[in-house]
Amino acid sequence: MRGALGGPRLLLRRLREVMAEPVNAQARLDRIVIHIAANMVAEVCSVYVARSDGKLELYATEGLNREAVHLTTMTTGEGLVGLIAEKAESLALADAQAHPAFSYRPETGEEIYQSFLGVPILRGGNTLGVLVVQNRARRTYSEEEVEALQTTAMLLAEMIASGELQSLAQPGQSFSLQKPMALKGAPLSEGVGLGHAVLHEPRIVVKQLVAEDPQAEMRRLDAAIQAMREQIDQLVARGDRYGMGEHRDVLETVRMFANDRGWLRRLREALESGLTAEAAVERVQNDARAKLQRQTDPYLRERLHDLDDLANRLLRQLTGAGPAHGGVLPPNAILVARNMGPAALLEYDRANLRGLVLEDGSPTSHVAIIARALGVPAIGEVPNVTDLVETGDAIIVDGGSGEVQLRPTSDVEAAYGEKARLRARRQEQYHKLRDVPAITRDGVEIGLHMNAGLLIDCQHATEVGAKSIGLFRTELQFMVAPSFPRLSEQYNLYRKVIEAADGRPVTFRTLDIGSDKVLPYMAKMEEENPALGWRAIRIGLDRPGLLRIQLRAILRAGAGREMRIMFPMVATTAELSRAKAIAWREFEFLRRHGYELPTELKLGVMVEVPSLLWQLDEICALADFLSVGSNDLTQYLFAADRDNKRVSVRYDTLSPANLRALKSIVDAGDRHGRPVNLCGEMGGRPLEAIALAAIGYRGLSMTPSAIGPVKAALRAIDLRVTREFLMPMVDKPDDSVCVRQELQAFVEKQGAPL
Ligand code: PEP
Ligand code: MG
Repeated sequence: MRGALGGPRLLLRRLREVMAEPVNAQARLDRIVIHIAANMVAEVCSVYVARSDGKLELYATEGLNREAVHLTTMTTGEGLVGLIAEKAESLALADAQAHPAFSYRPETGEEIYQSFLGVPILRGGNTLGVLVVQNRARRTYSEEEVEALQTTAMLLAEMIASGELQSLAQPGQSFSLQKPMALKGAPLSEGVGLGHAVLHEPRIVVKQLVAEDPQAEMRRLDAAIQAMREQIDQLVARGDRYGMGEHRDVLETVRMFANDRGWLRRLREALESGLTAEAAVERVQNDARAKLQRQTDPYLRERLHDLDDLANRLLRQLTGAGPAHGGVLPPNAILVARNMGPAALLEYDRANLRGLVLEDGSPTSHVAIIARALGVPAIGEVPNVTDLVETGDAIIVDGGSGEVQLRPTSDVEAAYGEKARLRARRQEQYHKLRDVPAITRDGVEIGLHMNAGLLIDCQHATEVGAKSIGLFRTELQFMVAPSFPRLSEQYNLYRKVIEAADGRPVTFRTLDIGSDKVLPYMAKMEEENPALGWRAIRIGLDRPGLLRIQLRAILRAGAGREMRIMFPMVATTAELSRAKAIAWREFEFLRRHGYELPTELKLGVMVEVPSLLWQLDEICALADFLSVGSNDLTQYLFAADRDNKRVSVRYDTLSPANLRALKSIVDAGDRHGRPVNLCGEMGGRPLEAIALAAIGYRGLSMTPSAIGPVKAALRAIDLRVTREFLMPMVDKPDDSVCVRQELQAFVEKQGAPL
């Protein structure tokens, strides 16, 4: 039947002609439905467009009453059309009225039609509308017919997305594509950013849908698949992934899909229906997306990402579009990505970057650390965001609450604009505090230092008035590099860090890799419990060559000044002694070879493994200073993975057990005359900082943006009375008393801004 009228290929050709005609949008749409109905030998063809209020509005029809156009609406989920939109799934019925979802609309006159075939109009992860054909007689639609209608729906998707139908919208109505959406994710980096979405991996927009020469399209597709396979094979063989954000496992999966017969067959079929090679890829991907998005199994849903990756690669081959990310950004850009490596983020032009939204990304991921270092508001774990957003969409990122506002209404935009202004005003007030010390009302000074890991962080030291760089995480350089940084590269970075610190001391921490901090070029070890595995100083002592080179680079960079180095994850006094011995051997080596040396070398220890709590006297005897890594110490004390959201916030850092442990460290330091700093995240939260000061800490090192708020809070309190209030709750714990709540109320009464 279809063949008699030329099938989908002829239809597409006709539709292409209609698209080129100089008529208005309604006339074009009217002609389109006539052609579809004729080609499919259907009495009815109708187009429903999804509106931003969730309703589906009849935009054009051949066969139903014309008066119903722009009058008949369905809610998503209502009737057969609503069902198709809700499920993003096609529906073919020989007896439509027998379907439980059938909803009769008298104004349309559709009661005489028995058979029904509807397909969603899809674009990215959005359903833009529904395309329907109906027949008077009872008939079963073939699979080819369903596919032909789906292909045709792509054309309508383009029409809707291009804005051509905008003029037909009722006053006050807009399309679902422009619907405002509030999404929620995990806060990664504080701050409010307003701007426009830029996709890190831009979707390639296929403009030419209908093939001029189907044979030529087939050849193009074959060539592109071949080229793409070769490219993937090369990448897998090179084992090279960093910077491109590609992971070997992902590449392997993509390679598997690229050779999948079913996928290749579907592409060929789409081509046979008259599409261009690009449109065929998009068509097949649309189907796969619709199917996989309905899966509840997270493993299967994850495969959608791999398939997207594959489709994008193939589209890039076909269109000759360059690699995904380039670095140049338009003003007020909010980057949206599935995931991104730290190096990729650093490639972007910072001046225009206002925010970052990721589908993956946890607060301790490296890209999050970099976003914080750059002062860019960021949110992770926002499901599907790359499918929901279009390049150029207005978007707001609230990195404090984890809220993403997509295409916000003007009042939402105004509210966030106000929030951003308030924040800027607060920052200004912090800025005024920059040069005043963090002295409590009763005259106790708490040294506020900053954590850094990249050269760009160090410039913040002056901006925020940090006393020193209390923790320089050297592993970040290793993590963003394509291969092991050589001695000269390490030396150059440390030298520049010292210069950027502008006279402030810098405490370098030796390489803290392992666990979640993996080096792409280092063979990955499979460990059951990586957080309890081969990491940090354990690697340093087992591979002293690595540690020696790093120490040599630090010592050389510190020529002529006092140098401070500390060792991470030390669990025993013997480990600290061995690490110190290696450092002094390097010192000697440099002296013997006539290098200019640091004027003084202070070697410290990170206290982050609980075993040290019972060897504090011995550790104090060995170390020149102590720095408490509360992120790790807390995770090990409570046996609660810091990267696992389910348990990481289960135990309060202000619980008596934790505060007692932390107090025992600072007490030991005081007994032995050893300075004790705390450099975990808790030190950067105002209430926690007050508690730490109250139990005896006089030095806190934190993310730079936390210095202002912590300083403002500390300056508002009387430390002696706060200590007197807090200590009984720590010394005599009572389960019915929540230290956090009590302390918060107490310091708020003193006027401390929290
Ligand atoms: C810590 O563990 O508290 C710490 C400062 O180190 P990192 O977060 O780099 O493990
Ligand atoms: Mg640590």
